[in-house]
Amino acid sequence: CGASPESCNTSHRKHDLPIHGVSETIVGVLGGGQLGRMLCQAASQMAIKVIVLDPMENCPAGALSHCHVVGSYDDSVTVEEFAKRFSVLTVEIEHVNVATLEKLEQQGLDIQPKASTIRIIQDKYLQKVHFARHGIPLPKFMKVNHQFTMSREHYYFLFLKMIVENITVFDRKLWLRQIDDPESAKKAGDLFGYPLMIKRKRLAYDGRGNAVAKTEEEISSAVQTLGGYDHGLYVEQWAPFVKELAVIVARGRDKSILCYPVVETIHRENICHIVKAPANVPLKIKKLATDVAYKAVSSLEGAGVFAVELFLTEDGQVVLCCFNCFYSCAQILLNEVAPRPHNSGHHTIESCFTSQYEQHLRAILGLQLGDPSMKTQAAIMYNILGEDEVATNLTGLICYRLSCLQGEPGFLLAHQLIGRALGISGATVHWYDKPEMRKQRKMGHITIVGPSMAIVKTRLKFMLNEELLNGD
Ligand code: ATP
Ligand code: MG
Ligand code: MG
Repeated sequence: CGASPESCNTSHRKHDLPIHGVSETIVGVLGGGQLGRMLCQAASQMAIKVIVLDPMENCPAGALSHCHVVGSYDDSVTVEEFAKRFSVLTVEIEHVNVATLEKLEQQGLDIQPKASTIRIIQDKYLQKVHFARHGIPLPKFMKVNHQFTMSREHYYFLFLKMIVENITVFDRKLWLRQIDDPESAKKAGDLFGYPLMIKRKRLAYDGRGNAVAKTEEEISSAVQTLGGYDHGLYVEQWAPFVKELAVIVARGRDKSILCYPVVETIHRENICHIVKAPANVPLKIKKLATDVAYKAVSSLEGAGVFAVELFLTEDGQVVLCCFNCFYSCAQILLNEVAPRPHNSGHHTIESCFTSQYEQHLRAILGLQLGDPSMKTQAAIMYNILGEDEVATNLTGLICYRLSCLQGEPGFLLAHQLIGRALGISGATVHWYDKPEMRKQRKMGHITIVGPSMAIVKTRLKFMLNEELLNGD
């Protein structure tokens, strides 16, 4: 394979295959999670070889890749060593060492999407500033700063302290007095109102960098749950959305853009739980959502698929106003963009002519983009999330364990669900083969397609052994 024998920690690559067609191109992927795994599946059908870099020896993409290099995508030396082998490099996660990617790009390495895009997106605050500058509608947002001042009294106090304690080394931090940080978050609360959404700028996923303060008093506990101000936080106005929508946008190397149908995403505890394709919203809303997504992706550099998460803040109903003309009170706000295939696009594997994974490979390799439209009338994607596992400890008391291993009850429950799915017409199971289950961890997903949304919902209900899903 493309990696050197020393660094290629592959156990599954047994022999070299003759290279043919587009497979002469080896695609390097930073990250080997479930998105990387499904990228490998698409690549294998297209005769393209994918080599992934991921620190986890048994990462989901490992077994399906041409080769898995074990290493950190955040470490500059590792990324540099890895990246130099490929004619094209891409990502399945945005939390990578972007400074190294910028350096490699300057040296002529082909990275898609561009490092500048990854830099903007991996910092949610920077992302918001970028999209605001490009006129994309967003919830209002504000940085919460560490602010420092030095009053005269404070200066005298420190001067005395230095003499008394015989301090000779100048410590900048000592000489600067940090203003109470909650003040700046409170200012945002006064401006934006409550609930107030507090977010980490970086390394956020599955809502794990978000905390909600319902009142001013809750600000400090919300900040605590995010690990304190040192982690780099910002605040967002609460978006009173009636639905969350998402659009997968594909952009080719020639900058041509194709959009997938608008979908509705339903989150549970900040984690994507269900995706309905297409979204049940008026055509006008679909057009508005697609326009915002198109505009957002046009403002970024490089090829690939991008997922644009959106809030629909009104129900999109057309109302008759006093002048007898029709007017829609719906508003679309952008939540965030991912520079890669995305959970909201899993359904495309079964429901669209070209899956988001195939499209990503087409885009980054400069092949013609495929048809993004749906080939089925309706689809629902259901995420299999890890559950808390009830276990009995040594004293006989019931307690909850945070994780479980293959063969244990958490896995058995998931496998029962898969068993039921296999008996349902139009259902396809995707299991990511993660060795350990944790609460709310994405373990797999099931996509059900059918001739109408009503039929697909009935099939889902049957699979879940549940009453019909609430709402539409
Ligand atoms: P992802 O796994 O999509 O990357 P993330 O950790 O980046 O998630 P966000 O997308 O910022 O988190 O937020 C997760 C969810 O929290 C959103 O899908 C939405 O349900 C809710 N949310 C985020 N921002 C706001 C907001 N300003 N107002 C109301 N709800 C919000
Ligand atoms: Mg995110
Ligand atoms: Mg999100």
